[in-house]
Amino acid sequence: MTYSEDELLPISALTDIVFCPRRAALHQLERVWEENVATVEGHNLHDRVHDGATESRGGVRVARGIKRHEQSFEVQLCAQAMCLEEMLNCKVPAGALFYGISHRRQDVPFDHALRQATESAARRLHELIEAGITPKAEYSKRCKNCSLFTLCAPKTGNIGSVEKYLAKAVV
Ligand code: SF4
Repeated sequence: MTYSEDELLPISALTDIVFCPRRAALHQLERVWEENVATVEGHNLHDRVHDGATESRGGVRVARGIKRHEQSFEVQLCAQAMCLEEMLNCKVPAGALFYGISHRRQDVPFDHALRQATESAARRLHELIEAGITPKAEYSKRCKNCSLFTLCAPKTGNIGSVEKYLAKAVV
């Protein structure tokens, strides 16, 4: 499917949709942002990208700045590779993730399954944005690592829109 310029979505939102659709909606539909310690640590690494802290080592290009959500890193990285392939008409068979906090490197082959998962995440993200409805909160263990926990309030009764929740809270 081809999208117009206005319909394009940030690659980083793929991380959100894989991690939690509600989180993707809070960011992309409601523009809700709340930083916690984990996010701040991620931003510190991210800031280095914008400070020019990219480098090449032995033919490996190091690009920092991928957000810190377990199980969704690979999809975001694969999306970046697929964009490069389209832009530069080349093949990117694999990449690697470097976890700044644990100093751990993980090789990521861009195989068929990961490419399909990436395309599926992109479709789901577009469907979510087109629907324009924030999914209700479902509390799970991932919520403990979510920087939107306070505003999302997943334990307080399955609310939908944070905007409406905040409006009610101040009445
Ligand atoms: S707190 Fe939980 S339900 Fe709410 S956005 Fe984060 S992960 Fe999703």
